[in-house]
Amino acid sequence: MRIMASELPSDLHFETMCVHGGVHKDQQYNSVTTPIYPTSTFYWNSLESHSGYDYTRSGNPTRKALEENLAALEGGAGCVATSTGMSAVHCAMALFSPGDHVIAPADLYGGTFRLFDRYLSEKGLSFTFVDMTKPEQIQAAFRPETRVIWIETPSNPLLKVIDIAAVVALARQHNVMTICDNTFLSPYLQRPLDFGVDIVMHSTTKYINGHSDVVGGCVISRTAETAKRVAWICNALGLSCSPFDAWLVLRGLKTLGCRMEAQQASALEIARFLEAHPLIERVYYPGLESHPQHQLARQQQRGFGAMLAFDTRDGRSVAERVCMKTRLFDVAESLGGIESLISFPVTMSHASMTPEARAAAGITEKTVRVSVGLEHCADLIADLRQALDAGTST
Ligand SMILES: *Cc1c(COP(=O)(O)O)cnc(C)c1O
Repeated sequence: MRIMASELPSDLHFETMCVHGGVHKDQQYNSVTTPIYPTSTFYWNSLESHSGYDYTRSGNPTRKALEENLAALEGGAGCVATSTGMSAVHCAMALFSPGDHVIAPADLYGGTFRLFDRYLSEKGLSFTFVDMTKPEQIQAAFRPETRVIWIETPSNPLLKVIDIAAVVALARQHNVMTICDNTFLSPYLQRPLDFGVDIVMHSTTKYINGHSDVVGGCVISRTAETAKRVAWICNALGLSCSPFDAWLVLRGLKTLGCRMEAQQASALEIARFLEAHPLIERVYYPGLESHPQHQLARQQQRGFGAMLAFDTRDGRSVAERVCMKTRLFDVAESLGGIESLISFPVTMSHASMTPEARAAAGITEKTVRVSVGLEHCADLIADLRQALDAGTST
């Protein structure tokens, strides 16, 4: 006899929760998957009672299934699934008010930086951007009006790893909240709530959905009290995702564990191949012993993820050649899908930064970013090799 998702034992493994979390909503026909409920509203049984749902912006059974699943995977008390990753950032930041001060990493995701630096700053919040690998910079940034520390680890595109437990300890000393953008690793590889972070958010567009066919986000809270406030904001601001999108993300999510395993295994092999290649100056991948925070990544992550970056030796010409001559890697922004992507941060994901800010962050015309997909690793390495070697063998 099938048990309902709400009755699942709490000691199940991650992969099992991915498959079974939140599903089995259909008690009428016993469908094995969660149905899509494309309805804007729900009829009432009487003037006093309804099914538990009254209007889809506020709640929808398909979206609820996704939210229950995600909350269980991150170990949170509650989750809201939003229309995009940026709406998830906005939702979490709506907990704060004009006058509040935020400490955030200098190498923040570009869209989050724009929301903080250009939009929320105009609305009266203030921000200090620091190198979060240096705790003394965080310590120096605190002000009496500081309310939250925003964490994003590993960072984009150079995969710097921030010590989550250390940041949480600092935050607690100063009685401020912590929010972690966990998009780059997914809950399979990192669970910030276990380190005492208050809120985790994701662009589910990336690894959680994993198939590059939907944009979405989520906000997961450690306590029921925070979850309730976040759900109120999500409804008030109208940030929730459609039942169709929720269904797609829920379908993608079921294979998260095995996708991450396969993709990160390939990422490590590719990182090793690149590190040994004469045209590559430096590889940024937390799984390499040469990575400055390799030990920290080992401690706080369950794996090293499938994002990597590298600097080429001869400047832009080699970087450009690799990007343009690969056949299996599409030149595109975004990440976390089953198809491998390659990108040039200077003109793509980090184009909106000033050249000085980019240089300070260590992003140059030699830097190439790779999102490793689910293709066979040998094919990916052969492709990178032919792209790197193109034009060098005469
Ligand atoms: C993509 C991304 C976002 C924004 O998500 P969207 O779904 O594009 O709105 C936020 N943070 C990180 C780390 C991302 O990679």
